[in-house]
Amino acid sequence: MKSSEVEFFTTPLTRFAPTIADISGVGAPEFSPSERVEEVKKLVLDKTGKSTVDKVVIYNPDALGAWFVDKYTETFRPLKELSDLRVDYLTMYPPKTPVCFGTMFTGATPEQHGIHAYVKPHLKIDSLFDRWAEAGKKTAMVSVAGQSIPLLFQGRNIDYFLYKSDGAVIDKTVELIHSGEYDVIEAYVMEYDTVMHMTHPKSVFAKSAARRHVRGFERIYNAMKSAYADSDSFLAFAPDHGVHREWYLLGNHGKNIPEDMNLSHFYTVLPKEKG
Ligand SMILES: [Zn+2]
Repeated sequence: MKSSEVEFFTTPLTRFAPTIADISGVGAPEFSPSERVEEVKKLVLDKTGKSTVDKVVIYNPDALGAWFVDKYTETFRPLKELSDLRVDYLTMYPPKTPVCFGTMFTGATPEQHGIHAYVKPHLKIDSLFDRWAEAGKKTAMVSVAGQSIPLLFQGRNIDYFLYKSDGAVIDKTVELIHSGEYDVIEAYVMEYDTVMHMTHPKSVFAKSAARRHVRGFERIYNAMKSAYADSDSFLAFAPDHGVHREWYLLGNHGKNIPEDMNLSHFYTVLPKEKG
């Protein structure tokens, strides 16, 4: 698949934050655009009969781009089977982790949030984390420590659970879901990104990392299914950007090419079980 044969996706990632704000019943962060991803709002309405959900879990595996998800059908079959809706986004340029997550949780463009490279500043502009906290939603961030999301969105009135490994992140996320204590949980994992930089996007090691990210998704889904049976809940599989292989053979990302910029999210609504 040569990049010249692939079109760029068109829905900008800036629309994610205001859409998630709407379905979680809070105001959109200040820099959000006025447009929403209408299919997401329709999905929530169709499956729950109302416009908001009670519980939100956002799962952020790093660097799983659209082409990769489409190429490895077997690996991603559980994700596609458990999800109701796929939304194709054009991520932000340059497609580097803090640039993209800076946008994903604020609705701001890189010009507005000011991150244009692989730097991880304390981002003080209005974000979903601020909106959830202000609305009294109990919010947890579960992440590998020292990574973009916990550094950009530090100092918010939310609970932080930071670990050394993806395994610990998934275990804690599942535990927090079962506790029922949180209204919103954000979980970030990064093995695929790490491994594909050390090898390349389609290496055996990168593919096993991707399988573990899908397994993490399944564990989160199953936990929500049992622990959130009395709630309407929403699960997002929400990576930040794609990847490509460089002429020097290692995996990388950061270019304005469809392999790096085209992103697919998968969304699921688990309606309250009647009974
Ligand atoms: Zn990334």
